[in-house]
Amino acid sequence: MHISGPEKALFYLLTAISLAIMAYQIAQRARLWMTGRPTESRGEATTPNQWVRSFWTYVIEQKKVRTSRKRSGAPMHLMIFYGFVTLFIGTTLLAINTYSPWKFHKGTYYLVYEVTLDVMGVVFILGVIWAFFRRIRMGAYYAPVVELARESQDPALGKQAAQARRAPLSQGVGDYLTLALLLILGVTGFLLEAARISNITRPWDWASPVGFLLSQTMPYVSDGDYKIIWWFHAFWVFVFFATLPQMRIRHIVLGILSVSGAPKRSIGKLRTIPMEEVEQTEQVGVKLAKDYSRWNLLSLDACMECGRCTEACPAWGVGKALNPKQVVQDIRASMGSGEAVALAISHEALWQCTTCSACVDTCPVQIRHVDMIVDARRNVVSEGELSGSAATMLRQTSSTGNAWGAPASSREDWMKGLDIPLCRDGVEFDYLFWVGCAGATDPGAIGTTKAVAQLLKKAGVKFACLGSEEACTGDPARRIGEEFLFQEQAAKNSSVFEKYSVRKVVTACPHCFNTLKQEYGDFGASLEVLHHSQLLANLVAKGDLLAAKPGRGEVAFHDPCYLARINGESDAPRAVLGQSTRLNSDPDPTGASGSDLAEPLHRGRKTLCCGAGGGRMWMEEPPSQRPADRRVGELLATGAKTVAVACPFCRIMLDASVKAAAEDVKLVDIAEMLRDANA
Ligand code: SF4
Ligand code: SF4
Repeated sequence: MHISGPEKALFYLLTAISLAIMAYQIAQRARLWMTGRPTESRGEATTPNQWVRSFWTYVIEQKKVRTSRKRSGAPMHLMIFYGFVTLFIGTTLLAINTYSPWKFHKGTYYLVYEVTLDVMGVVFILGVIWAFFRRIRMGAYYAPVVELARESQDPALGKQAAQARRAPLSQGVGDYLTLALLLILGVTGFLLEAARISNITRPWDWASPVGFLLSQTMPYVSDGDYKIIWWFHAFWVFVFFATLPQMRIRHIVLGILSVSGAPKRSIGKLRTIPMEEVEQTEQVGVKLAKDYSRWNLLSLDACMECGRCTEACPAWGVGKALNPKQVVQDIRASMGSGEAVALAISHEALWQCTTCSACVDTCPVQIRHVDMIVDARRNVVSEGELSGSAATMLRQTSSTGNAWGAPASSREDWMKGLDIPLCRDGVEFDYLFWVGCAGATDPGAIGTTKAVAQLLKKAGVKFACLGSEEACTGDPARRIGEEFLFQEQAAKNSSVFEKYSVRKVVTACPHCFNTLKQEYGDFGASLEVLHHSQLLANLVAKGDLLAAKPGRGEVAFHDPCYLARINGESDAPRAVLGQSTRLNSDPDPTGASGSDLAEPLHRGRKTLCCGAGGGRMWMEEPPSQRPADRRVGELLATGAKTVAVACPFCRIMLDASVKAAAEDVKLVDIAEMLRDANA
């Protein structure tokens, strides 16, 4: 079939126009991204090597999508992605072969090319059809809650399912139009191939099995009819190019830029604001969207609106206003508008975040929700707009060095009768045992602190405490947004570490653990930091302590977010309880874990937040919206009569929920279980 010169010219012209429309729209958005702070000025630019590595891992291998929860539609997404990419590359090769002097479509390569395109075309179409039905089905209910209720058959969760919220997956007309457009492209592509085979049959057409079979169902296609089908397919390709930046499927392009250029900073480390930046900008944190980095702004446009972040969010899961997908959309909408980010998100949602990082961990385009929320909080706090119990906590931290406001001398109260070595007495030690505010103040957490000290003594570990010289790490202050109070605490504690030449630290608090390990490096502290579960697991492995071995199904372990997800440690606490699991290397630990523990549905890095992080511990919580109640419901649904924790914050939050839910269930720290096993 011959396409005439004028037809070709028209085709080129329309292709150029549709591409120009696409480029214009992307340029408009790029103009907004460029209003942001230069990513390099924040020390977050990626090197070419890092860029290529991220491109390979997250774009080619689709690591985030592959490792998201099994029912989140990951296979569907992979079918659409790999199908689309193959068709795109195949069409580009065809265009080069057809319109350039370089003719390479021949021989075995060509047969493989044809088969591959046909197979992947089918994969693509099936993926799009799956997406259609999934979107319709997900419209009914908030699936994860329903899923939990079904799997656990627990009445408490059944109640949640009854109150289930609308699905976080987008249900807009645009979403269905996008899928319809993709389906039209896939189906008309096959129709075009079948029409071509019907028009001119070639001996190797069997290598296009779908097109070949389809052509057998068609009457002879004349040159004129073929041209109509050809133009029909081309029309939808032009529509696709011209509307791509308006559709969510723009993430096909922007997602690549977002994941490849994402900062390599750990998700547990917040950016340290230098004083010079405050002097230069005359503000703290982010007031308007333009105060974010250029990469941050680009990443907002890359959002696929898949809703994975919202599915994972503990605040949304108990009916709060916070919806991380909406946070992204709201900040995106405020770009260039002059509306303050905190208002765009809403103050209510801004303060509901626990900084558990479930959203960040699951986001396929690596949007940093927590960084953006904390940056907005920093600005609000700097303008004196924080009041209530959270503001009281900040004042207490500043005046006493303890988030609960207890005097420094009280940090030694728990030591009475235990003969705890103190750094100031000049004792030699290998480990500084960092107790933390909760560990020195809260009665339950003090139980953990004593158990850890007794175990270290029993195992012959040379350790010492700072006692009254220890002060809050500043973690709650930093995550609430009081950056410079955090910096003061970090500088103060770092100089104490220097004074006693501290090199190794062990702590029973995952929040202190994260801050000392991830964030104190910016303040000159060079420390090897272990969570108590890690040191105790090492001592068990060396035979210095006996593992606690609860009976099968007796104990349910609750993974703390700041240990399991943010710092990737889920095996050590289980090793303390005598389990040899490999959850650390399992990004989606939903299957059988080889553990005798009564494992809840959310475990390992996919754990469910207790609601304490991000300063939420010190904020009012409506009784019907406590993340801890949901978590306890899930833990008790396992049938275990003991809930084990490895974090004083989790302990405080879960305690009230456990007491309210079941009188015969015990809440203990793994250190207490280990101490009892070694009594
Ligand atoms: S922010 Fe990430 S996880 Fe959330 S909807 Fe957008 S792409 Fe999905
Ligand atoms: S960090 Fe946790 S609480 Fe905050 S938005 Fe993300 S998932 Fe929700």
